[in-house]
Formats: sequence, structure tokens, C-alpha cells
Amino acid sequence: MVEHCDFVIIGGGIAGAGAGYALAREGKRVILLERESQPGYHTTGRSAALFAETYGNAPIRALTVASRSFLMNPPAGFSEVPILTPRGALHIGAAEKAGKLDTAYDDMRKLVGSLRRLTPAEVLERMPVLRAEAVTGGGIAEPDAMDIEVHALHRGFLRGMTAAGGRIVTEAEVTGLARNGAVWQVETSQGSFAAPVVVNAAGAWADRIAALAGVAQIGLMPKRRTALTFDPPQGMSVQDWPMVIDADEAYYFKPDAGRILLSPCDETDSEPCDAQPDEMDIAIAVDRLETVSTLQVRRLAAKWAGLRSFVADRTIVCGFDPGAPGFFWLAAQGGYGIQTSAAMSRVAGALALGRALPNDIADLGVTEQDLSPTRLRT
Ligand SMILES: Cc1cc2nc3c(=O)[nH]c(=O)nc-3n(C[C@H](O)[C@H](O)[C@H](O)COP(=O)(O)OP(=O)(O)OC[C@H]3O[C@@H](n4cnc5c(N)ncnc54)[C@H](O)[C@@H]3O)c2cc1C
Repeated sequence: MVEHCDFVIIGGGIAGAGAGYALAREGKRVILLERESQPGYHTTGRSAALFAETYGNAPIRALTVASRSFLMNPPAGFSEVPILTPRGALHIGAAEKAGKLDTAYDDMRKLVGSLRRLTPAEVLERMPVLRAEAVTGGGIAEPDAMDIEVHALHRGFLRGMTAAGGRIVTEAEVTGLARNGAVWQVETSQGSFAAPVVVNAAGAWADRIAALAGVAQIGLMPKRRTALTFDPPQGMSVQDWPMVIDADEAYYFKPDAGRILLSPCDETDSEPCDAQPDEMDIAIAVDRLETVSTLQVRRLAAKWAGLRSFVADRTIVCGFDPGAPGFFWLAAQGGYGIQTSAAMSRVAGALALGRALPNDIADLGVTEQDLSPTRLRT
């Protein structure tokens, strides 16, 4: 038996959940297929949970800005806890990175007016654990960067989708995909599904899904990124620290539930897989931290890795495939899929329904072409 609906979504990470939320709330019959027993098992459950309007290229930054109001004030019943809580970020570097910090500051403050350029002394005053020689270029304070309660956000989208009549099928690995007349027929380990539109939100596997469907790929590049947590020195309260980010993105660290989360900002090419941390990346992270600060990592509390998937221009891919009717891409969220998720939920919902981009997002300078898979085809 084949179960019919309006939209089949493949992948239950933040991208698929956000699209399902928007489409179900438009009254569409949505079925979301997720291979794992837990929809957040892959990249969505492995992020650093930061919302920073200075991060990424221009379309990504605009989509992050456009996400703020929903994340700050989600609809009633969306989440029992706040989705965003204040964190702040501090971008730092030694003297040779001062020019880079100046350029970044000039560029970013057009969009984020609250940024402040800091002297080395001001950086050290805010973060006394940093070594003076690591901050001779000063810093940029980003007071409006926030922590994201990722689990609540993801669950809010999924719960909102099912409350509006959508259905989630877990342990349903998509193994076949074919256009059959006016619908895509999707074969899974949990039966067959059919819909005029299939949304490919399969994260690192999005090009694999395209290959299954006989659709041209977008050149998706999954890249592994590692993170670890460790305990701060006894008696040191870290909860109010900002996230510290190197101007060259060679490392970042931030408070995380009483511990410190650290990443070496690695981007190692990977096949789509259940990514695992590499000991060398852990060692690099610890070395970089101990070089720029007086912190010491004596014992790891946790370590993990996840795949951040990019296309060549590092912008998200969202839109119908030009050569395959009803095949809708929602992929390449890169390192920004959580912070852009509220805007991308609305964008995916609108474009999949054949509508224009929401006005407020277009007003920020984002175009359909910025996101369309057609830009990746020669
Ligand atoms: C260390 C790290 C730090 C990060 N920090 C941040 C941050 O601070 N802020 C931010 O915004 N972003 C951050 N990111 C990026 C963010 O996590 C991703 O952009 C986002 O989670 C991607 O979501 P997704 O839904 O596209 O992918 P995923 O969460 O991977 O979801 C894709 C889903 O598709 C499913 N799937 C695949 N193939 C099939 C199939 N054949 N059948 C059925 N289901 C299938 C998978 O099982 C998976 O659950 C970070 C990522 C990492 C790794």
C-alpha cells in the first residue's frame, strides 16, 4: 500500500523539521521520513548552539537576522523554555589580525549596529583568562549573540508540525525514489509514500538522495567539525563569559552548562556518515586554547563531531530543482542551520508552495536566486 500526502520530507533534522512546521501549518498533508530513531541524531544534535548575526556570508547573515524575532518570541505553546538566551561573543586576534578585525567590524556593523571595536585592554578586562600576546589586535564585542536552546527549537518545530496534522515516521530510511506520473514515489524500510513534491532535507546525505532519484547533484561537501567539553578550574565561574572566537576561526570556546565547550573549527572533508571525533583534532583544539589562554584541559568531559555540509558558495540551497519536477532542495545548511532555521522554515514553506520569498526576508537583500539550486548548475 502507498500512503499519499502533499509533501514528503526526507530528513528530520532542523531543516526538515522547520519545513514540515511551515507546510503543515498551511494545511498541507506532510509526512516526514527520518532514518534514525531520533530525528536530531546527526548534525542538528551536535552543534555549538550559537546565534551570531555576524557569522557566514551576506545571505546567511540576513537569514540569521530574519530569524531573530521568531526565536526570541516563538508562538504560544512552541516551547516551555526560552529559545534564545543572552551569551555575547568576543572576536579576538593578535596584532597581525587587527586589519582583519577592522574590516570585519566595518562590514558587519552595517547589519548589526550593537558591535563595538575593543582595544586589547578592553578584551582582557572582559576575559582575563586570555593571554595578552593573543589579543594585541584587540577585538570586536558582539553583545547580541545568543545561546540557542537547540533541542527545544527542534522539538517545537516537530511538535508544531504534528499538532497541525503532519506525521513523523522514524526508522524510515529512504531507499528508492522515482517519479511516477504526477507524484514522487518514495520507498522506505517502513513502506511506500507518494506526493507531488518531495523535500530533500537529508543533511550530509542530500546528494545521495538526489542520486537515488536520478537528479543532478549540487556538489555537496560534508565537512567534519569537532567539539569537546571540559571542566573549568575549580571555583571559577564561567557562566557569564561570552563565546570567544578567533578572528581566523582557528578555535572558539564558550560556556556550556557549567563546563567549557571548545572547537578547533576543523573542516575535514568527509563522506556522509555518523561522524566521530579524531584524536588529532582534539589535540589541536587543546593546544590552541592553551596557547591563547591560561586555561588547561586536564580531562575531557565529552567529545563529539558532526558534519557541516556546504556547497561551493557556502549559501543554503533551497528551491525546486530546474530539471526534476517536484524535487525540492533544502540542503547545505553548513555551520548556520540552527541560527537561520526560523527564516528558512518560512522560506522553504513559501517556495515549496510556489510563492515568493517573504517580504521581510527579501527586504534584507536575499533573493530566490541566492538560494536556488539553479545557481550551481553550469
Ligand atoms: C560542531 C558543530 C557546531 C555547530 N555550531 C552551530 C552553531 O553554533 N549555530 C548554527 O546555526 N549551526 C551550527 N552548526 C551547524 C548545524 O548544526 C547544521 O547546519 C544543521 O544541524 C543542519 O541540519 P540538517 O537538518 O540539514 O541536517 P541533519 O541534522 O544532519 O538532519 C538530516 C537528517 O536526514 C536524515 N537522513 C539522511 N538520509 C536519509 C535517508 N536516506 N532516509 C531518511 N532520512 C535520512 C538523517 O538521519 C538526519 O537526521 C554546527 C555543526 C557542528 C557539527
